Amino acid sequence: MAEKACKKCRRVTETDTCPTCKDSTLTASWKGYVIVFDPNNSEIAKKLGITVPGKYALRLSK
Ligand SMILES: [Zn+2]
Repeated sequence: MAEKACKKCRRVTETDTCPTCKDSTLTASWKGYVIVFDPNNSEIAKKLGITVPGKYALRLSK
């Protein structure tokens, strides 16, 4: 499994393009993740600036 994280919005995906922001600057170097089901009622989503439900990386490496 080669999941990558979007450098812009941290979305974790197995595709080559971020499904959230359509960006293709993805990195395989990331640690930890949160799964957001309801961004409007999630404190973590608010802190990370997440507005779309999905899986997001907590830490990205350069
Ligand atoms: Zn993105």
